[in-house]
Amino acid sequence: MNKFVYMFDEGNGSQKELLGGKGANLAEMTRIGLPVPFGFTISTNACNAYYDAGKTLPTEIEQQVLESLTKLEEKTGKTLGNPANPLLVSVRSGAVHSMPGMMDTVLNLGMNDETVVGMAKLTNNERFAYDSYRRFIQMFSDVVLKVDSFYFEQYLEEVREEKGYSSDPEMNAGDWKEVIKGYKEIVKKHADRTFPEDPKEQLFLSIRAVFDSWNNQRAIVYRKLHKIPGHLGTAVNIQSMVFGNMGNDSGTGVAFTRNPSTGENKLYGEYLINAQGEDVVAGIRTPQPIVTLQNEMPEVYEQFSRTCNLLEKHYQDMQDIEFTVESGKLFILQTRTGKRTAQAAITIAVELVNENIITKEEALLRVDPDQLNQLLHRRIDDSYTRTPLAKGLPASPGAAIGKVVFDADDAEKFAKEEQKVILVRPETTPDDIHGIVAAEATVTSRGGMTSHAAVVARGMGKACICGCESLKIDLAGKQFRVGDTVVNEGDIITIDGSTGEIFIGEIPMIEPELSEEFQILLAWADEVRKLGVRANADNPTDAKKAVEFGAGGIGLCRTEHMFMDATRIPIVQEMILAETYEDREIALSKLLPMQQEDFEGIFEAMQGHPVTIRLLDPPLHEFLPDKDELLVEVTKLQITDPDSDELQEKEQLLRKVRQLHEFNPMLGHRGCRLGMSYPEIYVMQAKAIFYAIAKVKEKGMTVKPEIMIPLVGHVNELKQMRQLVINAGERVKEETGVEFDYLIGTMIEVPRAALTADQIAEEADFFSFGTNDLTQTTFGYSRDDAEGKFLQSYIEHKVLPENPFASLDQQGVGKLVKAGVQLGRATKPNLKTGICGEHGGEKSSIQFCHDVGLDYVSCSPYRVPLARLAAAQATIKSEQKQLVN
Ligand code: ADP
Ligand code: MG
Ligand code: MG
Repeated sequence: MNKFVYMFDEGNGSQKELLGGKGANLAEMTRIGLPVPFGFTISTNACNAYYDAGKTLPTEIEQQVLESLTKLEEKTGKTLGNPANPLLVSVRSGAVHSMPGMMDTVLNLGMNDETVVGMAKLTNNERFAYDSYRRFIQMFSDVVLKVDSFYFEQYLEEVREEKGYSSDPEMNAGDWKEVIKGYKEIVKKHADRTFPEDPKEQLFLSIRAVFDSWNNQRAIVYRKLHKIPGHLGTAVNIQSMVFGNMGNDSGTGVAFTRNPSTGENKLYGEYLINAQGEDVVAGIRTPQPIVTLQNEMPEVYEQFSRTCNLLEKHYQDMQDIEFTVESGKLFILQTRTGKRTAQAAITIAVELVNENIITKEEALLRVDPDQLNQLLHRRIDDSYTRTPLAKGLPASPGAAIGKVVFDADDAEKFAKEEQKVILVRPETTPDDIHGIVAAEATVTSRGGMTSHAAVVARGMGKACICGCESLKIDLAGKQFRVGDTVVNEGDIITIDGSTGEIFIGEIPMIEPELSEEFQILLAWADEVRKLGVRANADNPTDAKKAVEFGAGGIGLCRTEHMFMDATRIPIVQEMILAETYEDREIALSKLLPMQQEDFEGIFEAMQGHPVTIRLLDPPLHEFLPDKDELLVEVTKLQITDPDSDELQEKEQLLRKVRQLHEFNPMLGHRGCRLGMSYPEIYVMQAKAIFYAIAKVKEKGMTVKPEIMIPLVGHVNELKQMRQLVINAGERVKEETGVEFDYLIGTMIEVPRAALTADQIAEEADFFSFGTNDLTQTTFGYSRDDAEGKFLQSYIEHKVLPENPFASLDQQGVGKLVKAGVQLGRATKPNLKTGICGEHGGEKSSIQFCHDVGLDYVSCSPYRVPLARLAAAQATIKSEQKQLVN
């Protein structure tokens, strides 16, 4: 015979799969002697048996339920349905993973026209008995018979009005009796049956309703969202009732053993006197903070706080506990690991180690790296009451205050005058990049979470809201509207990129910082992790941030961003427009000192940590104006000012833009292919780097430069570019008389490079896997087109398990990374390897990087703390796995 039903004293906390989370913990608390109202749990297996039998309860299970009921009756001395001493129970669903809102609990089951009389007599409180009865009818009908609560509430409202009452406490026993009659009429009308008076029928109908609720729409959606498998099933807990609504020496409440928002080690919770469980959440009366219980019921409080300590020690984590006091006696009804903010998670983990309750390794596993984002951006003060003007997509977290501007150039202009601005655009394009850089934050009325503005802002750690469609932007009039509210250029707004909210005016903020506990936790992470963590940083400011957040170097410094600066773009264009080598050399010689200065700044900021600098990567047309816009300007000038120099210039520019036009820029003339065609560009960059090294070394500082050639597909490309760099290095050494060391390596970002990594390694001191491009080239997707057009639907329909640009596709792209590492190391056992795509800041990809034995990951400075923690978790998890095997 299969066992489907377990008394609370038969199970324990490790049986979550079988008894569900709630059931296992009720059993565990019973086992360690806590005051838990007795009961039994119908297992998740029973749920599956119910479905296997075509949604009927097998007699075997029915039998076991009845036997357990008898045991419960013996233990409590009460009998279900016995008017002289009725047993009342709650029916509570409880899946393996807590699924709030899947099925509502039924309380007071066992009440009927007869037992209510017994209850009234036993408690000497008629009003209490009838109030409980009418609550039961409403709950049961709602949850089990599917009669909407609305009908009951509407009717109750009518009765109250008729009697001239303003609230429920004014209702007396007689009034409740009348309501109960009316309630039963409602049931008859809206359910296709009368209200069941037989308590056993009530019980079995409730059990079936819980099993049915496993597959209701809410539950299915919730499971999908949280990736909970559907085959697990739910358990049902039948528990004898205790009453918090027996009078003023009774009550009910919920408490966390520590503050779930700050982590402070102090009981945190609330309770209501003379109330039943659901009243606390219903918000009819305002609950009292838990501390006042100390005065109201000192003994109960003492006992409760001791129980909380015990539970926390027992589960070795902060608990979320439900309790009820019946006539001065404390009962514990539920405990579970409490949900908490990132800050609380860190504080609690660190303090639990200091209290010798958990180990450092356990503490490291307790904090979810994804949560840390909350802490690394400026944010709105938690105590502020929010009234947003509009809401869009929370595209990049953090909050910002600034004056509204509608144009990237304006953003830059204002920023130069040290004014903080927020760039508001219908959408952004690469042309707006300087505006995004200058602004505190960006808001767009179109575009999604992966639109240009969003991707760029996240990369820079700046707040961003996208797709805020209620914003009606008038670019010409320099204003936007939301309904009747008009916001003009220069008006101050505050935005919260973590929620997508936009506010008028300035709102109080708090600065991000690594709290003391956070730094302690990260120091532990550093002790454990095998994987290095570097940052992607293109300028000294980002480099400093990276060092502050604990980066061990720069894994990707993109030199093209240095070309985008407003003062440099004309020189860059001059270089591109140059028709002869000599003309190009002139432009390049102007750029050289500028780049050199950038590198000096970065080297100094990095204080001797390695810096990987990538030579120019994007196609040249990215530095030129948009073709269509240019065409409009040229056409205008042809009409208004046909003889002007400006027209000539613009026509020349347009010719060049047309000449550089590519059918598929992603696969076009970019990366080292540029260096092959215009070696002078790479030579200039290499020299700028070397001069910077010489300069910084002369100041007595250490520099560890790593020069990276992008987009290599064939070893011959790297061979030539490497020689070019070496020659430049020799010349600078001669010129300056300074000796220096450096590495030359390559990005592995096209499949051919990964597949021929053994050959490429001959010419490389290091590999950096550019997993953004490697994902594009492996799938053959252009990211912008894919994310904008079909990727979402692919993920929804499970063609792909996840967005491969967010989480590394381990089976495909990962296979290439793995092959690249193995082939490369076969040639050069000490080859340094890392990744520098956005994946470097995502926890499952970091685990993968650890597993394939990369030396480091590199990510945005703001993700460095996350990566340090995730890298430590990867080490711990791998070690745990090895122990098991
Ligand atoms: P949820 O999972 O939605 O919290 P629960 O099953 O925990 O649902 O129950 C809802 C409320 O009813 C809680 O406040 C709980 O403490 C209370 N409750 C459940 N069972 C009993 C019982 N046997 N006696 C008294 N109160 C109960
Ligand atoms: Mg609960
Ligand atoms: Mg690339």
